[in-house]
Amino acid sequence: MAETIFAKILRGEIPAHKVYEDDRVLAFLDVNPLSRGHTLVIPKEPAETLDQLSDESSAAIGRALPRIARAVLKVTGAKAYNVLQNNGPGAHQAVFHVHFHIIPKLDDGSGLGIGWKPIKLGDDGATLAAAIAAAAK
Ligand code: 5GP
Repeated sequence: MAETIFAKILRGEIPAHKVYEDDRVLAFLDVNPLSRGHTLVIPKEPAETLDQLSDESSAAIGRALPRIARAVLKVTGAKAYNVLQNNGPGAHQAVFHVHFHIIPKLDDGSGLGIGWKPIKLGDDGATLAAAIAAAAK
């Protein structure tokens, strides 16, 4: 895996405004936030995308996310927020170290804008679900 800016933050070589840390997880403010309180939550384990992350780091991230979300809500006063997690350049990932964005949606309109263009679930829904279920085992 190539060196990333988040690896440098983890090693303390680049400053960051840290908001949470445990054995497996670090959270810090995004340097270019979409809204006040926009926070990044990352595993300490170096993995590029979520599908490459170990069960141990996944569990640790899962434990930390609600806790950090509660803290962000409390401090910003936001009543709504998005959790965003991009994987791959085609999905707008720019830093290739797994990270979750916690993005408060604020009364001033700042936060994540979403372009959501749903398509129809086709006739192959059952086949598709069965294939994914088999692959998830
Ligand atoms: P992505 O598009 O990969 O999901 O988002 C990467 C995020 O990392 C962006 O929101 C960007 O602002 C943030 N970011 C990039 N470099 C730095 C940095 O050096 N420090 C901090 N705190 N955030 C960064």
